Amino acid sequence: MSEKWGKNRILLVEDSRFTAAMVTDFLVKNGFEVEVVPTGEEVVQRIRENIIPDLILMDIELAGEIDGIEAADIISKHQDIPIVFLTANTSKEIIEKIKKVKAYGFVLKDTHPVALLSTIDMAIRLHEANVCATLFEHLFEISANELYLLNPSSFRFEVVNRAARTNLGYSYQELKAMTIFDINPGLDIEFLRETINGLMHGKQERAVFNTIHRRKDGSLYYVEAYLQLFEYRKCQYCMVFAVDVTERKKVEDELDESRKQYLELAQEAPIGILKCDVEGNVVYINKKALEIFGYPGVESTGNINFLTFPMLVESGLSQKLKECMKSNLSQTVEKFYKSKSGKKIWLRTHIKPLLNKDGVVNGAQIIMDDITEKKELERRLYEMSITDPLTNTYNFRYFTQKLEEEIWRAQRYGERFSLIVFDIDRFKNYNDSFGHQVGDLILKATVDMVKGRIRRTDTLARWGGEEFIILLPNTGLKEAAKLAEELRQKLIQLKVWNNESVTASFGVAEYQEGDTPESIVKRADAMMYRAKNDGRNRVRY
Ligand code: GH3
Ligand code: MG
Ligand code: MG
Repeated sequence: MSEKWGKNRILLVEDSRFTAAMVTDFLVKNGFEVEVVPTGEEVVQRIRENIIPDLILMDIELAGEIDGIEAADIISKHQDIPIVFLTANTSKEIIEKIKKVKAYGFVLKDTHPVALLSTIDMAIRLHEANVCATLFEHLFEISANELYLLNPSSFRFEVVNRAARTNLGYSYQELKAMTIFDINPGLDIEFLRETINGLMHGKQERAVFNTIHRRKDGSLYYVEAYLQLFEYRKCQYCMVFAVDVTERKKVEDELDESRKQYLELAQEAPIGILKCDVEGNVVYINKKALEIFGYPGVESTGNINFLTFPMLVESGLSQKLKECMKSNLSQTVEKFYKSKSGKKIWLRTHIKPLLNKDGVVNGAQIIMDDITEKKELERRLYEMSITDPLTNTYNFRYFTQKLEEEIWRAQRYGERFSLIVFDIDRFKNYNDSFGHQVGDLILKATVDMVKGRIRRTDTLARWGGEEFIILLPNTGLKEAAKLAEELRQKLIQLKVWNNESVTASFGVAEYQEGDTPESIVKRADAMMYRAKNDGRNRVRY
């Protein structure tokens, strides 16, 4: 404030031209800029026109209508300008009048010029100090944050700014009669004492704590309070800077709540969720994932440091994880997995690399789904789709597929294979004589018998009503015919119902180069019909 550009400007109000010239000369020599006006009216007019000097040196007895004291009175109501009276008159009456106006002092006209100089200098400095103090007072008052000046031993308020008064709903007077505990009933006196003590002994420059203020109307608000001590004129003051964080707290609470909900959702999710860092250390795992890995009792929010790559190796995931993080590409893997507890499950894992804010992979997220039931269902559906429900053999569709594969193998590796086609003789008669159910029993018994005789690598299928077909890999025509003959004899002995024998006619064919599924089946079929024509219950090849 005192650092100013240029010289200090003084407006001298003096009707005596002689005095004015002398004073001006002296002041100019001492580094001031001086302007002279002869009357009170003129000085008032100048101030009204906003021509503001740094100081007014005012003669009291002036030529015009108003004297210096009246002029000073008018000016001080409009502007904060330091005024020093310059007078020859020191009557009691004048002194009393001067006291009533806002003046910075007075100097006798016949005093030593140095006294004039020092009075002017002091008045300017004092004014600057006043301006400065007013500015800080103003800043304190208009701050949007709540500011409290507290007596650190009685905890009474010295000053409370507008923001605090407005939020609390108390007047300045009311607050002056209150302590901090009146607006902060939850504040522990011992805690406050200790905090202030800490500040006093320089342990820290300021203390921060979260607390709650109570308004005059009883409502509460959350506050983040900053405490600082300072000394002024040998007195200690505690300055409290308080930020109303109710809104912020509300947002934080909501965020916390939603975070909690998401975490709970993830924790209780019926799928396994796991997050690991680039080293493969598990940083998050939910309940289901722990269960999948065979640690069902472990608290997933507790210590999970033991969950590292070796464990993921067990699950066959570590390699995929490394690949994924290296390539920054997601992968879905289905694996049959045996957990630590020995439980075997089908696991579908979706591995997704995680990026930090710079786009660098810093870990991975693994979503694990136990798809054992789904796989089992798929398997059952598939089996149903290839099985004849009555006899529990393969159906036409599956057999055709197998036959195609076998032909492909024969073409590629020169492997031989044969087919047996057989059809139960006069089957219609059994149905007619004993009923359809007996017919069914015969079909089932026949299948069981054949299944019990053929090799695991052979495939038996129901080709049509009471016609069956057998695929015999690595089998030549002769061996196949021998097997057909054996089956024919076994069937006669079967006697499913009423000691009645069942017979069938067999046709056998071996794969020949250039065969298609149709051509080889057709040959075996033709042999079967030949057996029928030759009197049934025989093998033809
Ligand atoms: P052939 O010796 O000439 O083969 O005489 P067949 O009576 O066995 O032949 P045909 O083709 O005349 O009759 C087949 C019978 O098989 C007719 C049909 O009702 C019966 N059949 C087909 N599928 C089933 C089945 O799932 N269950 C029962 N019980 N009978 C069936
Ligand atoms: Mg038949
Ligand atoms: Mg038939």
